[in-house]
Amino acid sequence: MDQDKLNALRATYENSSGDDVSGKFAKVIEAVYDAPGERSLPYAGIPTLLDTPIAESAAGLDVALLGAPMDLGVTNRPGARFGPRALRAIERVGPYNHVLDVVPTSELRCADIGDVPFRSRYSLEESLEDIEAFVHDVVGAGAKPLTAGGDHSISYPILKAVGSDRANGPVGLLHIDAHCDTQGAFDGSKFHHGAPFRLATLDGVIDPERTVQVGIRGSAEFAWEFSYAAGMTVIHIEDFAAAGVDAVIEQCRGVLGEGPVYVSIDVDGIDPAFTPGTGTPEVGGLTPREVQALLHGMAGMEVVGGDVVEVAPQYDPSTNTAHVAAQMMFEVLSLMALGPVAQ
Ligand code: MN
Ligand code: MN
Repeated sequence: MDQDKLNALRATYENSSGDDVSGKFAKVIEAVYDAPGERSLPYAGIPTLLDTPIAESAAGLDVALLGAPMDLGVTNRPGARFGPRALRAIERVGPYNHVLDVVPTSELRCADIGDVPFRSRYSLEESLEDIEAFVHDVVGAGAKPLTAGGDHSISYPILKAVGSDRANGPVGLLHIDAHCDTQGAFDGSKFHHGAPFRLATLDGVIDPERTVQVGIRGSAEFAWEFSYAAGMTVIHIEDFAAAGVDAVIEQCRGVLGEGPVYVSIDVDGIDPAFTPGTGTPEVGGLTPREVQALLHGMAGMEVVGGDVVEVAPQYDPSTNTAHVAAQMMFEVLSLMALGPVAQ
């Protein structure tokens, strides 16, 4: 570098502050600086989902972030009831999404409205009713729900609230998971975490022909006949690997089409090397980068709700599982910011 250029750099930057930033990053600076020259502490204060403000209800919001700390639907290892708290403890996710070039928390009125109030810690059926009622109020207020689970059984009552309240009928579904979660009843319950998308289809709140399930693998293949019978698109992990992410994006966009889409992300869809903190891990899964790329490929879709489920933090002392889950929640929020906003 010649001396003139160095002198020019010194003149501009030698005494400038870290928040002396203009253009599109002004909104980022607003979010991460408390006052001129003073950044807020990421590890202090009351933790919330994606560091959003706290709100009493969804009134006046575009997106309501909420927790559903309930894991009465698991078929194996419990612990996803601790998922929302684990996600709230994660910091430094966002506020700027450099791939989608958006600061979703600036574009959307969004807040953490807390956890679903459950009547009983013992009853799966009552808990699902509680979730439906809570999310029904969110949707009724004109906000989109973005939920931290909880096990995957929570998606059924959420979809009942989202899919039945919309003028345009059943919603499309982008579902990332090792499991199709379309199994029938066993051990006396049809509401377990391996069943929400069978139930939502039968209730007419998701359109199976606008449903794509990505990352499928593992020992439960025998249980997914319903997905094929209903006309869902099932993309196994080996097909994903063979086709590549760009081709899968094309396929997903083709299946999901133009209408409203709900995004449901089970962290066990990702390889347990990245997300070991989950109840039913399956070896040989997606990388977080692949899931991010897939989600980025959905930009422009009308995402009407989403969830990130099955974070059971006690199996992951590294906290990486919760970190990955919070990042995915941020990616879904970014998609909501790019799509049409609820009025
Ligand atoms: Mn699942
Ligand atoms: Mn799963």
